[in-house]
Amino acid sequence: MKHNFGAGPCILPQNVFKQAADAVIDFNGLSLLEVSHRSGDFVKVMDEAQDLVKKALNVPSGYSVVFLQGGASLGFTIAALNMMRDKKKAGYINTGTWAKGAIKEAKAVGTDVNVFATSEDKNFSYIPKNYSMPMDVDYIHYTSNNTIVGTQFKSIVETNSPLVCDMSSDIFSQVIDVSKFDLIYAGAQKNLGPAGATLYIVKDEILGKSTSAFMPSYLNLKNHVEKESMLNTPPVFSVYTSMLNLRDLIANGGVPAAEKKNIAKAALLYNEIDSNPLFNGPVAVEDRSLMNVTFLLNKEELASEFDQIWKAAGIVGLAGHRSVGGYRASLYNALPIESVQVLVDTMKEFTRTKG
Ligand SMILES: *Cc1c(COP(=O)(O)O)cnc(C)c1O
Repeated sequence: MKHNFGAGPCILPQNVFKQAADAVIDFNGLSLLEVSHRSGDFVKVMDEAQDLVKKALNVPSGYSVVFLQGGASLGFTIAALNMMRDKKKAGYINTGTWAKGAIKEAKAVGTDVNVFATSEDKNFSYIPKNYSMPMDVDYIHYTSNNTIVGTQFKSIVETNSPLVCDMSSDIFSQVIDVSKFDLIYAGAQKNLGPAGATLYIVKDEILGKSTSAFMPSYLNLKNHVEKESMLNTPPVFSVYTSMLNLRDLIANGGVPAAEKKNIAKAALLYNEIDSNPLFNGPVAVEDRSLMNVTFLLNKEELASEFDQIWKAAGIVGLAGHRSVGGYRASLYNALPIESVQVLVDTMKEFTRTKG
């Protein structure tokens, strides 16, 4: 039995893997991989997946859900294009690699980007708090969870401007008020399903209002909403498996139950990081992510020994992102608390023998 702390693609419930595998072999007599996306059987899957997203997040009426390709990386461009209005200006919060990606793509399509808050001065180890937000913008954009460094906004950014959020690595992990947002996007592979699909939750009111002269059909959310995610061939396997995962999430108490579990898992690990003399957590305590827990070894020279013992314990995916080093334990919804306990026990045992 492996304990998968990988940051994405990531662990999903074992029963979801099993059902997805079964459908690859037999989905109403055909393989899921050979059915037409326009067949009645698959249209039902797409409808259910969209409905389950709405149910799981209590999405109010007046919003649509679509599944597209391209990952959150294309979401950076789609967000900027679809939110562009007369001012052609936007306010972005820079909390790290992914936020920077979003800023870069907004600029690439001609948005005048005002980065009004950043934590770059301290390697993105905190969430900026005291900032003055520009008023003369088309929208405000932020990244709710920094997957790489392990920081997370603890509340929704407050603004009177339309609000856009990249929620790739914490969507479905905690209860959110969707009505505060005009656009939410998230790559599936961090908490929802296999790589391939990207989820967009969009306020219908914003559709078709872009002032961008450059607007390829595929990047226009209005087209996807009108065609109910069937403008072109959707990522069938990813959507199907995401649907299975959402069924499982809802059957197990939904997002509120997942949030409770996620809080308990993160507390277990952060307590060990704080009490174990061999480890430290590099990010601001109040901004610690519930999804991606980063930590460092105080004695760098023991790194290869620590690597050996966590690997021997069946732990995988614990190496920090290549840009920051150290360790990163991703605690996405499907990771059982028992796996976190194995990691904590491993850290304790390591310190008992080496500390
Ligand atoms: C992983 C990630 C991305 C990039 O996602 P892709 O689907 O690989 O393009 C963007 N934003 C955040 C917050 C992420 O965690």
